[in-house]
Amino acid sequence: MTPKTFPFSFEEVQSLARQTPTPFYIYDGAGILRQHKALTDAFTWCPDFRNYFAVKATPNPAILELLHTVGSGVDCSSMAELVLAERAGFRGEEIFFTSNDTPAEEFRKAAKLGAILNFDDITHIEFAKQAIGRLPELACCRLNPGKLKEGNAIIGKPEEAKYGFTPAQLFDGYRLLKENGVKRFGLHTMVASNERKAEYFVETARIVFELVAEISEKVGIEFEFVDLGGGIGIPYRPEDDGVDLSVVGNGIREAMDEMLVKRGFRAPRICFECGRFITGPCGYLVSRVLHVKDTWKKYIGMDACMANLMRPALYGAYHHITVLGKENESCTECCDVTGSLCENNDKFAIDRLLPKLERGDWLVFHDAGAHGHAMGFNYNGKLRSAEWLVLPNGKPSLIRRAETLDDLFATLVPPVRVRPEPKPGTTH
Ligand SMILES: *Cc1c(COP(=O)(O)O)cnc(C)c1O
Repeated sequence: MTPKTFPFSFEEVQSLARQTPTPFYIYDGAGILRQHKALTDAFTWCPDFRNYFAVKATPNPAILELLHTVGSGVDCSSMAELVLAERAGFRGEEIFFTSNDTPAEEFRKAAKLGAILNFDDITHIEFAKQAIGRLPELACCRLNPGKLKEGNAIIGKPEEAKYGFTPAQLFDGYRLLKENGVKRFGLHTMVASNERKAEYFVETARIVFELVAEISEKVGIEFEFVDLGGGIGIPYRPEDDGVDLSVVGNGIREAMDEMLVKRGFRAPRICFECGRFITGPCGYLVSRVLHVKDTWKKYIGMDACMANLMRPALYGAYHHITVLGKENESCTECCDVTGSLCENNDKFAIDRLLPKLERGDWLVFHDAGAHGHAMGFNYNGKLRSAEWLVLPNGKPSLIRRAETLDDLFATLVPPVRVRPEPKPGTTH
């Protein structure tokens, strides 16, 4: 059980709504730091444990800067993410570059920043060398365990995933890295997404440690770190339990002792690249009811749509809803909560029991902090919303203004100009 509470008052939300139009996002900075600490606390046994926050989850430099203050790294997978990480002050090995189908200029940018390069395929090693000139001293390869590991609903079966080397290919991969002067090595895998079973991560670690042992012996190298990827799940539903991180931490420690340390191998540093676990529970989408419609079903039409939060439409994902000011009313109305896109799957919830709603009511969608705003899009000309970060000292800070029609049309040739510009405080 995970009770769903909203950490801000109705007055605070209304005050933000006077400055930026609804819908908008609010992130709880103190909550983000608590999530980061919960993860690192599970690995206090591991010197230099690091989470490289997956930038794609919440690509806003203010949030990256906040995480930087507590020693987080960043995981980037594109040029834009590398630039955001750089802008947020991350340097060198604080940046992990896990990409696939990688363009040459992204390898160049990552190398210039001194990021840890994580190769997705053996052919990328020569490709990156051509792009950069020479390979850096530290490099990593991404394992796709194939049938060694079962997948889950979001990420699918590993053997059908486009990512990574097969276990057999890794041996040649590390030989090639060694021949090219690489001196320090890591091994990476990412096989889960939104997984809440602690044992899943321990099993993955065991697969990786076995390969670390075999490759170390056969290729004659030592591993400095293993990166177990992201994918630690969160309880989206009130009846869900979160991942027991002490089981993850202790299980990985035992596996490392048994499979590596006792057999005389160096203990690699453990890393993760969690995005969702860090920011997911700490972000909220605030939206107001535009229309209440009674036809074959009851429809609550919001001023937000799936362009603001795509997960329900994309994965059928559950996002808990709090109605501000009606928290204690009984949920007697069975509703579909919709947006205004010309797409019938533009729904935040289907057959959800909610209090009796009327035009102007304020809904908060929980657990939208990761892969929420980030997955937004402009279909039907929908504008991307503003984002607020409530800093750990309680002060709200605007970290992205709302997009305007002028922003949306800026790339048209010839440009389309909208005058006058939408005033702050008007709903779009
Ligand atoms: C998406 C992704 C992550 C983050 O996943 P979460 O589910 O947000 O923890 C980490 N690493 C890689 C390579 C990814 O693609």
